[in-house]
Amino acid sequence: MTLSKPAGAVRSRTGFWPNNRATIIGVGILALIILIVPFTASSSMMNIAVFSMIFALPAIGLSLLMGLAGQVSLGQAAFFAIGAYTHAILLQKFEVHGVLAAVGGVVAAMLAALLVGLPMLRLRGHYLALATLGLGFIVMIAVREWEFTGRTTGIYGYGRPEVFGIPIDNNGLFFWFVAPFVLIGLVLALNLTRSRAGRALSAVNDSELAAESLGVNTYALRVKVFTLSAGFAGLGGVFYAYQVQIVSPQVAEFHVSVELLLMVVIGGLGSVWGAIAGAFIVELLSEGLRDLIPAIIPGATGEVQLIGYGLVLILVILLLPGGLYQAALTTWGAARRGIRSRRQASDAAASAAAPDGTDDSGAGDVPTRAFGGIPDVGAGAASSTPTVAGVEQTTDAPTDEVTLPVVSTPVATGEPILEVRGLTKRYGGVVAVDDVSFSVPAGRIMGLIGPNGAGKTTCFNMITGAITPTAGTVTFLGREIQGRKPHVGAERGLTRTFQNLQVFSSTDVVGNVYMGRYRKGRAGILRGMFGLQGREQYTHEQIARDILDSMRLGDVAQLAAGDLPFGRQRMMEVCRALAAEPALLLLDEPMAGLSGREREMLAGLLRRLRDAGLTIVLVEHDVAQVMALADSVAVLDDGVLIAHGGPEAVRNDPAVIVAYLGTDAEEAEAELKELEEQG
Ligand code: ATP
Repeated sequence: MTLSKPAGAVRSRTGFWPNNRATIIGVGILALIILIVPFTASSSMMNIAVFSMIFALPAIGLSLLMGLAGQVSLGQAAFFAIGAYTHAILLQKFEVHGVLAAVGGVVAAMLAALLVGLPMLRLRGHYLALATLGLGFIVMIAVREWEFTGRTTGIYGYGRPEVFGIPIDNNGLFFWFVAPFVLIGLVLALNLTRSRAGRALSAVNDSELAAESLGVNTYALRVKVFTLSAGFAGLGGVFYAYQVQIVSPQVAEFHVSVELLLMVVIGGLGSVWGAIAGAFIVELLSEGLRDLIPAIIPGATGEVQLIGYGLVLILVILLLPGGLYQAALTTWGAARRGIRSRRQASDAAASAAAPDGTDDSGAGDVPTRAFGGIPDVGAGAASSTPTVAGVEQTTDAPTDEVTLPVVSTPVATGEPILEVRGLTKRYGGVVAVDDVSFSVPAGRIMGLIGPNGAGKTTCFNMITGAITPTAGTVTFLGREIQGRKPHVGAERGLTRTFQNLQVFSSTDVVGNVYMGRYRKGRAGILRGMFGLQGREQYTHEQIARDILDSMRLGDVAQLAAGDLPFGRQRMMEVCRALAAEPALLLLDEPMAGLSGREREMLAGLLRRLRDAGLTIVLVEHDVAQVMALADSVAVLDDGVLIAHGGPEAVRNDPAVIVAYLGTDAEEAEAELKELEEQG
């Protein structure tokens, strides 16, 4: 089987220092370069190296914001400038100690981001990009016009930094002064990308709805990352103020934001390493353009440089959309494949020569871990099922061998766990759901059926918080949750799957199921950055793997989720929902796209989950399956609840037959009689 490891594949980690070999080697090499650069670089190169380090900090912040959180900022220079100005003002006007002034610079940038982010991050789409662009201009004009910030002259006349009494008064020393902060910033950012919060941010980037439905408070997470990103920018501004010894409105100009954007794009969105490489390349480019542009356009200075940046940005997007990071990954992958195929060829030659014919095909390497202590029979067992890209097309296992995940039952069986009263959704003149009321008893399966366009998914979306009802209430575990974001219900144990699959395609299969564990974890951004998650992440990853093993998906756990065939993606979504240990599971057409065998397996699993105490609401077009599975069935037609009761009563309800067969009530009665006569 060909296993591809997606960029954001799950890797557990604990502790501050990275435990990934490639990262440790990378950090080591970077530290070595930092150590020797001041001894070897020319003075102009040293200047570029110093500014690369300074700008690497806001670039790391921006790469977290854009690559991880998927939010574009066109005003990173504003936070850089706020950091620089605050630091310079505290030093020059208030004669504050350097360390305190630096902290002040970082805090001011973070506070500004928080103020802007709180209202702006509620908006979706490109509003943040526009808002940050606006902020950039506001800061630029404010510092230019304000007496306190020195108008066009800026702030100057403060001292250089000192470390243990040694003045940092040359480029070599300054490089060593700033570089450790970049290294630490890099490690913190790398830790974050692999932490619970980082995984959640990637998931939000892939599907905000699915991430929310698993308990991720996307808004809070985005505000935090935006603020953190501004903190990195503010720190960069602090070092900039020290290095140039004058902070003028130039620092807040639009081209600084473009430069930072360019660093992140050239480096490769989503790669913290790329941000550092991008910073160095853009500084080199900046130096080159400073000479090149006036040579091509006589007398051109300042903003004309933007033409050069613009051209480079377009070329990178066209020729290298993944940036240097993607290019490095592709080269590294090709090199590894080459080495592996050469090794395999030599192994094959050696085993052909060996008389014992030992089989080292790796078939025995398939994980056979059991979940919940019950032996897992036959996971990864040989199958004659056809495969696509090395992936089996169907799950060929007896249903009673599937090991059950943990089921939490906070309400006594039969007591209402979910109550829907007068639920209504209007879209202009269309009434998608009209005054629907029902309650779902704990430990039962309720089927929600109806013809196409009856309002089933709209009903689901209102219950889970994906859309706000026009009227009505949704009470889950005694608390009204209508109109609240999906994470509110999810945090309390309301989990769902989707009619249109919502796969986290930037990670692997186990990464998807790991996200199901989100509501069971606690570690936030800070703990993630400092590697203080303890064994939490490792434990949840193990549980995710166990669930996949028990559902016969263990053999594809490392596969990119987007590479799975449709049916298996559906099963993966069910695994993801079960990983959350829900109190109430809402399944939206879970049988769609499954093979007959997979349907049978899923039906068996749902029965066993119900018997174990789980409450399930099932929207399904396969009416026969629903009738066979459900303890009660609710029928929607044209947004109206036309029947609700036991499967037998609903099956024989003339209104239901009318809805399904499209006949009138009399014809339906006749057809019903005919059906009864036929037995
Ligand atoms: P299906 O079984 O085909 O998925 P459904 O029972 O889930 O259908 P819904 O998707 O809930 O039905 O749609 C119910 C009605 O509401 C349909 O007439 C649909 O066109 C309408 N509707 C749903 N979403 C919107 C929207 N965003 N704007 C306008 N009308 C909508």
